Amino acid sequence: MPIDATQPYDDSNIFAKILRGEIPSNKVYEDEHVLAFHDINPLAPTHILVIPKGPYVSWDDFSAKASDEEIAAFVRAVGRIARQAGLIGEGYRVLANVGMNSGQEVPHLHAHIFAGRPLGPMLAR
Ligand code: AMP
Repeated sequence: MPIDATQPYDDSNIFAKILRGEIPSNKVYEDEHVLAFHDINPLAPTHILVIPKGPYVSWDDFSAKASDEEIAAFVRAVGRIARQAGLIGEGYRVLANVGMNSGQEVPHLHAHIFAGRPLGPMLAR
């Protein structure tokens, strides 16, 4: 069920539990502001999720409320993770779902990094 991106942050969401170490994740990167791990249900040969450590529901919430430092850390981490995974030559896709029409399921901002095969059109036709 897609989430309403205007809802308040709910710290019982699955990524909040991963951040608190209550459930495991297959970590690929961590710094002061950012955690990245492999998606549990990969939709491409490489499918990594990048999340801020702060409590932000969506891109909307994050872009409105996060500090410049958090935003810079998040954007740089997405680039660094893709670079470290060797994805620059073959290319990759960064995608963030926001709210109902996008199908966002987890109410904690996450950027998907997809790679490893031609990814097709941006949207189903
Ligand atoms: P979205 O539809 O943009 O909200 O994407 C949520 C993503 O989180 C999906 O691709 C799920 O497969 C992924 N996901 C859900 N639970 C976990 C988990 N415990 N560990 C890693 N990825 C997860």
